[in-house]
Amino acid sequence: MPLDHVPRVPLAHLPTPLEPLERLTLALGGPKLFVKRDDCTGLAFGGNKTRKLEFLVAEALTRGADTLITTGGVQSNHVRQTAAAAARLGLGCELVLSRAVPWDAPDYEETGNPQLDRLLGARVHILDAGSDREAAMLELAEAVRGRGGRPYVIPLGGSNVTGALGYVACARELVAQADAIGLAVDGVVLAASSGGTQAGLLAGIQTLGRRVRVIGIDVDADPAGTRERVRALLPPLSERLGIADGVSPDEVEVEGGFAGDAYGLPTAAMAAAVTRLARLEGLLLDPVYTGKAMAGLIALIAGGAFRPSETVVFLHTGGTPALFAYRTALADRAP
Ligand SMILES: *Cc1c(COP(=O)(O)O)cnc(C)c1O
Repeated sequence: MPLDHVPRVPLAHLPTPLEPLERLTLALGGPKLFVKRDDCTGLAFGGNKTRKLEFLVAEALTRGADTLITTGGVQSNHVRQTAAAAARLGLGCELVLSRAVPWDAPDYEETGNPQLDRLLGARVHILDAGSDREAAMLELAEAVRGRGGRPYVIPLGGSNVTGALGYVACARELVAQADAIGLAVDGVVLAASSGGTQAGLLAGIQTLGRRVRVIGIDVDADPAGTRERVRALLPPLSERLGIADGVSPDEVEVEGGFAGDAYGLPTAAMAAAVTRLARLEGLLLDPVYTGKAMAGLIALIAGGAFRPSETVVFLHTGGTPALFAYRTALADRAP
């Protein structure tokens, strides 16, 4: 097992469920759709960052850190899960949030994720759009050192090689679950942004010698940038895992056209997908990531990207606390 000797702190409820989306499959006429419920990782409303944090926090503890520092947008899910991990382990937590999303909704900085960041005891620093978040994190790290502490800085989205190991583990978990019920997975579709989730999945599938398409739906309104971030993580990740024959950069599939005008800005297709899944499956998606990814999956299916006989897993990466911050963009009345 390539991960057996890597330090890991258990934070997530694992394995997360793999569930059929029967009514959506019927409505779309196939392929056979399943959802991998990484919104149920369990740490302070869960999400994909919890798997990354199992490895990142272990590295922080190995290095003797007493304070976690990270960054994201105001409604960052990564930041919220980092705040929860810090609380759970008795570490300090400093968060650099940037007003990167031009979405002017009531309570945007007070409800959803930032409300939870504060509740979890993190110190929240909100910067204006265009501010240098890296510099702000380094400044906070200096301040922590100045008062005798030991900071550990986690990059945006937890997307370095260590964080991506969480999704190497997830790929192995998913394949084992599918094997156990005799399911051959042809494709996995997920929201892609900082790239660690997709890179980890690709490398994890590679460690098993399987062939499964992994399709990232860009939510940054920058598919080339997102694709490049996934690609850049693959060689160092393969090296860390000791995979001789790593994933080829040509295998990185990132689809654009579903993010709308910018990261975090609602789209009509997102709102339709969030509403559709809520009412068809009782499944809550989020407005920033999984709603746009589901809109992408539905459009790919309409465009014939999969045969009706194929099996496709939608990775639900979480993000649901942001539903409250985006309530004005979503249907709040029965049809
Ligand atoms: C961070 C995040 C993603 C994207 O994962 P990356 O590893 O950054 O590409 C997808 N969905 C949700 C809900 C997230 O919070």
